Amino acid sequence: MAEALSLEEAQARLLALAPVFPPETIPTEQALGRYLAEDVHAARTQPPADLSAMDGYALCGDGPWQKVGESRAGAPFEAALRPGQCVRISTGAHVPEGADRVLLQEDAAVSGGQVSTTEVPSRGRHIRPRGFDFAAGVRVLQQGTAMTAARIALAIAAGRPALAAARAVRVAILDTGDELAADPLACAVHQIPASNGAMLSAMLTPLGCEVIRLGPVSDDHAKLAQALTQAEGADILITSGGASVGDHDLVQAALGRWGAEIAFWKVAIKPGKPMMVATRANQLVIGLPGNPVSCFVTAFLFALPVVRASMGAREALPLRYRLVTGEDLPPVGPRREFLRAMNDGGIARLVGSQDSSALMALAEANCLIDRTAGSPALPKGSDVWGYLLHIG
Ligand code: AMP
Ligand code: MG
Repeated sequence: MAEALSLEEAQARLLALAPVFPPETIPTEQALGRYLAEDVHAARTQPPADLSAMDGYALCGDGPWQKVGESRAGAPFEAALRPGQCVRISTGAHVPEGADRVLLQEDAAVSGGQVSTTEVPSRGRHIRPRGFDFAAGVRVLQQGTAMTAARIALAIAAGRPALAAARAVRVAILDTGDELAADPLACAVHQIPASNGAMLSAMLTPLGCEVIRLGPVSDDHAKLAQALTQAEGADILITSGGASVGDHDLVQAALGRWGAEIAFWKVAIKPGKPMMVATRANQLVIGLPGNPVSCFVTAFLFALPVVRASMGAREALPLRYRLVTGEDLPPVGPRREFLRAMNDGGIARLVGSQDSSALMALAEANCLIDRTAGSPALPKGSDVWGYLLHIG
């Protein structure tokens, strides 16, 4: 078998295999986590008129001002103001014609129908001019953008109750191993609870894809074959475990019998070396190692990016950030390393055990320090690259 690939080469080869699907129209409100398959242009102007940013008085000319009415949000004052006149105005209400500034309620002295102040606002003060957020016709969101809560609000405000997004990718997850118990409460001493399936499902669900859970399945040719028939409808199949070359690592052989062809295997990273990619007609298969931390790291670096790419993401790979190591780091061997760490204000310290099975450390970590293969030891205070895991 060929040499292990570098991370970049493996990611590039995998992303080139990402299945692509035609877009579908979805309600904007259900677009959280989905990627836009179109540039979104505003169908309206926001704000649609000059609006007050504060509660107070909309003024015309020099004071004192005679109060001639009220403009409320949703109930504008219809007439034009003449110099020396004002209206009571609330936040979000139309600024009447003739008014060119808003006096804060707390700066106003009101006596009878007369308003005066010692704090005359400058021209345009506390007015949000028509179209200052966006004008009809401008592009408010770019194709390939991930829809967030704020972008859903923006699309709705721009008059777009529905959007084009690549269709939700169907991802099947199959965890394998004779020692895996499906029920953590019914786990014999020779067993461990199958945790990778739940972990992968939780990693994938926020991407808006459809997750199909298969397994856990034991290391048995017939059972693996049967599970694979259930993955027929999936666009992407993610397996975990059985990917090495032990006597009981049957996943590659089972995938071969199912009709999948290996595209590449082994990446020079730690943890996660036995990562495998295969294709079968329009289906993509990603074989992740079984150790939970290896499974997490390879899912983070490979499975999630390819699902994002299939769902139309412009930026499919996770972003790397500059961090500072809070402790001395040992030299790195021939494989690029991803260390579990806690980032506190840009200072990252290793957490717990760096063993590829250590879930306590993985669960505590909020970042992965990314160390290049062959790097020398680094003293505390050095700059390092890291990936943020966005946990609370
Ligand atoms: P394998 O890749 O099958 O050689 O598995 C490597 C290690 O990961 C073994 O210690 C397995 O018990 C463990 N493992 C495999 N699959 C899972 C899973 N779904 N949940 C938790 N641990 C697993
Ligand atoms: Mg196994």
